[in-house]
Amino acid sequence: MYVESKKEKTRELWRFHGGLHLPDRKELSRQRPLRHAVLPSRLILPLQQHIGAAAQPMVGVGERVLKGAMIADSAAPVTAPLHAPTSGAVVEIGEHPIPHPSGLSDLCIVIEPDGLEEWAALPQPISDFRSVDSRILRQRIREAGIVGMGGATFPAAVKLNPGKPIKTLIINGAECEPYITCDDRLMRDFADRVVNGVRILQHMLQSEECLIAVEDNKPEAILALLQQLDDEEKIEVVRIPTLYPSGGEKQLIRILTGREVPTSGLPTQVGVICHNVSTAAAIAEAVLQGRPLISRLVTLSGEGIRKPGNFHAPLGIPAGELIAQAGGYRGEPQQLILGGPMMGFDLATDRAPLTKGANCLLCLTAEEVPRPEPAKACIRCGRCADVCPANLLPQQMYWHCRAKDLEKVQDYNLFDCIECGCCSHVCPSHIPLVQYYRYAKAESWALEQTRRESELAKRRHDFRVSRLERMEAQRKARLRKKKEALKNKPPAAEKPLAGHSGDEKAAKQAAIEAAMKRAAEKKAKRQPGPKNTQNLTPAQQARIKAVDKRRNGAAANRQQQDPEQPN
Ligand code: SF4
Ligand code: SF4
Repeated sequence: MYVESKKEKTRELWRFHGGLHLPDRKELSRQRPLRHAVLPSRLILPLQQHIGAAAQPMVGVGERVLKGAMIADSAAPVTAPLHAPTSGAVVEIGEHPIPHPSGLSDLCIVIEPDGLEEWAALPQPISDFRSVDSRILRQRIREAGIVGMGGATFPAAVKLNPGKPIKTLIINGAECEPYITCDDRLMRDFADRVVNGVRILQHMLQSEECLIAVEDNKPEAILALLQQLDDEEKIEVVRIPTLYPSGGEKQLIRILTGREVPTSGLPTQVGVICHNVSTAAAIAEAVLQGRPLISRLVTLSGEGIRKPGNFHAPLGIPAGELIAQAGGYRGEPQQLILGGPMMGFDLATDRAPLTKGANCLLCLTAEEVPRPEPAKACIRCGRCADVCPANLLPQQMYWHCRAKDLEKVQDYNLFDCIECGCCSHVCPSHIPLVQYYRYAKAESWALEQTRRESELAKRRHDFRVSRLERMEAQRKARLRKKKEALKNKPPAAEKPLAGHSGDEKAAKQAAIEAAMKRAAEKKAKRQPGPKNTQNLTPAQQARIKAVDKRRNGAAANRQQQDPEQPN
């Protein structure tokens, strides 16, 4: 039931190009009351849950962590920290399957809950946020690890620093994809939290206007939000027509303001910033209660799940555990999707955990996803272009993708494609067009990365060559200078030593002679005196001779008896 309110003002709306009216299938989950997920035996927390640099672990295996404690962070400018969703022990830091289109594994912190739910010391709540500088609020939002929770996962604090005035703040409550109802449930059950978050964002950005956009298939949500607003508040709840993909950022800006975000441009270029309602609610919790982002609302839906509905679940809970808590699989599921049926991607395994940007787990049966018919040749009907909300030429892009001419595809603004899948949905030839564009984007990014790396390597090489050339030139210059200095040196003249006149020479000669004389005198003094064998009488000399003769005879005898004896 929808009740008109004076707080809901009439506003001129614009229409974006294309779009589709899809069977929304929201009735499967939207009216069921919110359930709280039971803690699993293990929480698996990927370090990369956001756009930007991956967080680095701040804890070790075996360490006990408390609920809400920061367990990973990075010093990079674009990143988001990670917090423990409950108290328990870190039992592993290793590779686990993550929710990603590649189906690959990545580094995760694994926590075994102890069931105590013991909180870490949290930062002081900032209840009077209007008196606080936006830099302090941004820091709080950064430390709470908040990222865009509508699926974009861009760190919210970075987005809240636009560096230019913002005219319009848009809060996205459109939730246009079929099956997904978690934002609807959030706006109905926690409208106060959403509106408080919007007030904080409005204070931080000082925008001229603030619009909460909700599709008109969510009347209860619109009413709940309106009930939270004061008449004098500059926040409007705007009912927009239900049309897929009105929740796309550029499409929503077009609907509400008529402004077109330029090709490859950002909303800030037209004075707009968009945030999702879940992000706003997480910001309110971080600022008003000091709580980090450790859980989120998620839709479990599809005919392949026994009891679809919305869950308030801790981050890190494996998809399979959540599905079990929703009654388990019904029959043999055909497809397990993370996100909606149009923009989501297949989950390779239900062991992948719930992350910050995961708004929906879809388990579809064969009836819901009939086997795709084989693709046929393009018949150039142009229907794909008619429905493209980004106003692109999908058929031409397809041809160039097939020809692997990536430059040409980019000339057709490939990167403006929001991968909404409208073109594929209507194609009578069943060409999986969006798959071609995803592939072309991935290839272009890889090529760009290779080009950047080779440019960097070339710059390094050029720098080295120029450094060596410079050093060689300097060496040659030094050599040349030395040679010139030698060439210009006057020949050495035959002249008396500087400062030595004739008188000085004579004085020097006299000093030398005096020194020689002194040396001779000293030498003479050292001559030995007369020996005690001089001046002897002939009798004394005869006695000496006799003694010498006896001594020599004795020595000769000893020598004969023992030749080894010394003389
Ligand atoms: S809708 Fe399909 S068949 Fe028609 S022009 Fe586009 S690609 Fe070709
Ligand atoms: S997937 Fe891309 S090309 Fe196709 S309709 Fe959507 S925006 Fe246009």
